[in-house]
Amino acid sequence: MRKALSDVDVAANLAAVAARIAEAARAAGRSPESVIPVAVSKAQPLARVRAALEAGHRTFGENRVQEATAKWPPLKAAFADLELHLVGPLQTNKVGDAVALFDVIETVDRPKLARALAAEMTRTGRRLTCYVQVNTGEEPQKSGVLPGDADAFIAACREEYGLPVAGLMCLPPMDEEPALHFALLAEIARRHGLPLLSMGMSADFETAVRFGATHVRIGTEIFGARPAR
Ligand SMILES: *Cc1c(COP(=O)(O)O)cnc(C)c1O
Repeated sequence: MRKALSDVDVAANLAAVAARIAEAARAAGRSPESVIPVAVSKAQPLARVRAALEAGHRTFGENRVQEATAKWPPLKAAFADLELHLVGPLQTNKVGDAVALFDVIETVDRPKLARALAAEMTRTGRRLTCYVQVNTGEEPQKSGVLPGDADAFIAACREEYGLPVAGLMCLPPMDEEPALHFALLAEIARRHGLPLLSMGMSADFETAVRFGATHVRIGTEIFGARPAR
């Protein structure tokens, strides 16, 4: 394959992020391998994505189904061991496309969506790993189930809708100390015996690792600033 020319040194950024994750994990008494960086490639030029693939990275996140459907099928064909996470809101009319393309849905947050996902997984036989998104900051403009509704919703997903929920995800308010939100998410996961925690982004992933993140969603620190869409 022709080596992808990227304006950003994606391979060096990936190595730097891995080193910072390892350092944060060791400081928290965790193994570095217990934390996986999800490279969030939304709105990034394809050359930067290819550079990450050529550097050996295989776990990616996208926040829009339509953009991901246009971008990823040829890359999935070329790299069989890719793991693609949906980290943005999912509308029920896009559930078919999402289940066909993604491996992990991180943003399950309402009964109608949980039911539609479970039905599509049954229909296609594709069982995706699901996370329930919790709106830990109770922000009206943000997706996610409210913390007070999380216990009942998680139980309903697993017992009533038959959805394979394995973890929780959150996106804390921009202007608040993220540690409180990470601690809350970890506590809800612990109550339900959920092993996976997707929390932490470029600005705060080391804090998230300290609070038990198994997946940190990193865009700009890996790919550089996102060009305007
Ligand atoms: C864009 C995005 C990220 C990555 O953000 P950076 O600050 O660029 O690391 C993480 N999570 C979600 C849900 C996103 O939409």
